[in-house]
Amino acid sequence: MLSILFEKMKKKSKLRDYKINTPQYEFYKELHKNQTYNYVKTKLKQYSTNSNKKMTMNEVLSMMDKFIDPSDPDVSNENSIHAYQTAERIRKEQPLNLELQVCGIIHDLGKILLNFNEPAWSVVGDTFVVGCEFAKSIIYYDTMKENPDYYNYIYNTKYGVYTPNCGIEKLLLSFGHDEYLYRVLQNNKNHKLSHKYQKIIRYHSFYPWHTGNDYKYFEIPSDNDIKQDVLEFNKFDLYSKEDINFVLTNEIKLYYKNLLANFFPQESIW
Ligand code: FE
Ligand code: FE
Repeated sequence: MLSILFEKMKKKSKLRDYKINTPQYEFYKELHKNQTYNYVKTKLKQYSTNSNKKMTMNEVLSMMDKFIDPSDPDVSNENSIHAYQTAERIRKEQPLNLELQVCGIIHDLGKILLNFNEPAWSVVGDTFVVGCEFAKSIIYYDTMKENPDYYNYIYNTKYGVYTPNCGIEKLLLSFGHDEYLYRVLQNNKNHKLSHKYQKIIRYHSFYPWHTGNDYKYFEIPSDNDIKQDVLEFNKFDLYSKEDINFVLTNEIKLYYKNLLANFFPQESIW
């Protein structure tokens, strides 16, 4: 029994192992240099009216066949496979929780931004708060020193532009697929996914908060519930990457095609 547990721990520790002088390192250096408070504000303004294209969730899912996440040391197959793997892990453990399954299949669809000519550092990677001191738990924290905000006398203070206990919702996070998909869901009211699951999507890459336990001084009591939801989801998102023998069958494809058609009966504006 103990040896099985040990093997499991050994296996798990191999995920999210960020070494320096790797493609991930170079990627994060770019991300950390460019994601400033002003950059995020500009992007949020640009995408405040999502108006790139009208597409169904199923269409966007099929477009993920082309994307491989350059920030992720654990995934080298297309993002559509990652979506099915995550959702299938959820379906096995929680067959009745359809919303969580939907969350699993769509959580990374914000990566469609890559099709709208966004650079990868503006789409993928862990997120962090901009406009205040950078959290020490940010991966490759040293590269944050290349971000101009690191030297800004307001942004480099503990609370920066925010106030203590303002609530996680008030914080601006580095821009990427989480925030983008959250806004698509918020701006399109023609679907059945409830706010709880939209928030999981919004914060799923916010590792310095949900796993690093930083930014506690911005939290309000209800933020802890969101954090627990994100951590629960994260298990499926992260550990599904270990399912190396996963086979995408027609049954699986059809199941999610129908599920998405049920939750998103119409096209969304992206
Ligand atoms: Fe993601
Ligand atoms: Fe993911």
